[in-house]
Amino acid sequence: MSSGAGKVDVLISQTDLQARVAALGAEITRDHAGRSLVVVGVLKGSFIFLADLVRAIDLPISIDFIGISSYQGTRSTGVVQITSDLTRPIEGKDVLLVEDIVDTGLSMRYLLDNLATRKPASVQVCALLEKPSRAVVKVPIQYRGFEIGDEFVVGYGLDWDGKMRNLPFVGVPRV
Ligand code: 5GP
Repeated sequence: MSSGAGKVDVLISQTDLQARVAALGAEITRDHAGRSLVVVGVLKGSFIFLADLVRAIDLPISIDFIGISSYQGTRSTGVVQITSDLTRPIEGKDVLLVEDIVDTGLSMRYLLDNLATRKPASVQVCALLEKPSRAVVKVPIQYRGFEIGDEFVVGYGLDWDGKMRNLPFVGVPRV
């Protein structure tokens, strides 16, 4: 598929993404029956995953976003910074943090520590992708879409220098 920046090999197809997201939504719905959730998307990479996921969750939810600095190019700078904050307090709320990918785990660790200071009732993590072989810190992921190897992926919200987020599948750019 043409991505605007060279060729990309499909790693996880649109069909497989849809099926997995539907299953995650059903699992989250089952686990939280009778409760409400604040779904927090981590910008920008989670926006497509979150949009599909929340439509597969049959619970009273509210949605907010938190923006953090991420990769420059293809490697982590190791520096995590909040670039835009939640719009409402989460004190006493059950929070589901939705992330595109957990790589080293450093961003998620920072976010979990940061959110904990706001005294939510609970925080759970839903990550579309995890690269276990790259973990520097172990973070709890209650809902995981797919485990992948140590490769740089794009599409379905994930970018390469700001581009390719709009690919409907997860793929590996051919370099
Ligand atoms: P971590 O702090 O876990 O190393 O990195 C988390 C963030 O790095 C993700 O939210 C994502 O923005 C970015 N990232 C990590 N691996 C990849 C990848 O393979 N592709 C893209 N596009 N971003 C990645």
